[in-house]
Amino acid sequence: MTISLVSAPDAVLSFDDFKLPSSLLRAVRELKYTVPSPIQAMALPPALEGRDVLGTAMTGSGKTAAFLLPILTHLLTRPRGATRALILAPTRELAAQIEQSAKDLMKFTPLRVASIFGGVGMQPQEKAFKSGVDVLVATPGRLLDHFSHSYARLSDLEILVLDEADRMLDMGFLPDIRRVMRHLPTKRQTLFFSATMPDAIEKLSGEMLVSPVRVGVERKAAPASGVNQTVYPVPEDLKAELLLALLGEGTVKDVIVFTRTKHRANRVAEKLVRAGISAERIHGNRSQTARTEALAGFKSGKYRVLVATDIAARGIDVESLGHVVNFDVPNVPDDYIHRVGRTARAGQSGEAITFCSPAEEPDLKAIEKAVGRKIPRDVVNNFDYRAKKSEKLEVPIGVRVAEIQARKAEDRARAKSKAQAAGTPASSGPSQGGGGRGGSSGASGRSAPAPKSPRYDQGQPAPSSRGGGRRRG
Ligand code: AMP
Repeated sequence: MTISLVSAPDAVLSFDDFKLPSSLLRAVRELKYTVPSPIQAMALPPALEGRDVLGTAMTGSGKTAAFLLPILTHLLTRPRGATRALILAPTRELAAQIEQSAKDLMKFTPLRVASIFGGVGMQPQEKAFKSGVDVLVATPGRLLDHFSHSYARLSDLEILVLDEADRMLDMGFLPDIRRVMRHLPTKRQTLFFSATMPDAIEKLSGEMLVSPVRVGVERKAAPASGVNQTVYPVPEDLKAELLLALLGEGTVKDVIVFTRTKHRANRVAEKLVRAGISAERIHGNRSQTARTEALAGFKSGKYRVLVATDIAARGIDVESLGHVVNFDVPNVPDDYIHRVGRTARAGQSGEAITFCSPAEEPDLKAIEKAVGRKIPRDVVNNFDYRAKKSEKLEVPIGVRVAEIQARKAEDRARAKSKAQAAGTPASSGPSQGGGGRGGSSGASGRSAPAPKSPRYDQGQPAPSSRGGGRRRG
């Protein structure tokens, strides 16, 4: 395979520098994209020329517009009535996001887009095929289901995009991708995007691309298979002890520990600190300042352990993370894949450890199905798995509510006596401060709405289509 390399051109300062149709420029302006992102600056020129592109780009880099703008530009020159562009994405959430981005960008054109993914009825999707919608965004499995019917023909296809190829690999979709390829014309333009380029992805790109231009931040990433994944079966009430034992072994140095709830994140962090381990936590009940401080402290080495919930952890980019511990088994396989992807970035080798209690086995099975293999089990040597220990991490909700009510009653009584002493009637409004020390219970200290995770467009008005969090499942 011949690969041309290009680096980010400094000269491209505005979207007007590309030869984009005015209808697309108008949409770009409306989305408040003023300056092309680096991946856009690099990928747009060769893609607009009709070249194949191999792009290294992550979510948040602006890669979606980097492939959509050339597609739409091309389609505007072609007769309508047939599907000429197909975008393959690993998950339905990503497919839905791409569809929305396409809608935003094609707003001032007659072009149409539809998506094809599982979990919803086949019929509207069948209609999209039959009507020859201009752009299809699809997950591989559902697309293959359609290909078994005669209406699903993509013989007029001219552009194919493979998005997040490395996640396709992680999720075991490479065989499906190869099957999809058999249904597509070989004479086409292909745009191939992946956050990392493990060997299997390089190989796949070699099969799919012809003399591609390679763009993006050149990173020799460890293969996703380089992430060492292990499950530690453990009774629920011994998880915290097991974590301490693991940290005591010394092999696990800095680590992000994921918990199911904010409350559990607090309790785990507290327990670690009590045991003399420097730890901080990030979750949605903490202020942005506290979260930023926790993350900066973790990155600088001030904290050895960062305890996080999934939502808060989205958008965290810690490049050299060696270990991830799933304190709880994620109940959505996609979350597992996302978390595990945090290790072994940027050429590092990574270790993903999952604590699994008997009750979590079904969730673990779903994850193993999604990653396409059984994850090996292991034990921590010299750990007493039969010990009857550890306080409950989750205070029952009834107990927590009673605690909060008692605290509020105390506050009211205090305010009343103060008011009586001052000779003024007590206010019935919410009292501040009083009982809640440190704001760590998560029940009272309600902070400002959490800002969106840091992405390319941080600091600019967010396009309405994107929604806030990218919670999956
Ligand atoms: P993506 O990596 O494609 O998921 O894009 C990440 C976010 O950046 C999305 O919210 C896009 O709408 C936004 N975005 C993409 N390109 C630009 C740009 N040139 N300027 C500002 N925001 C952008």
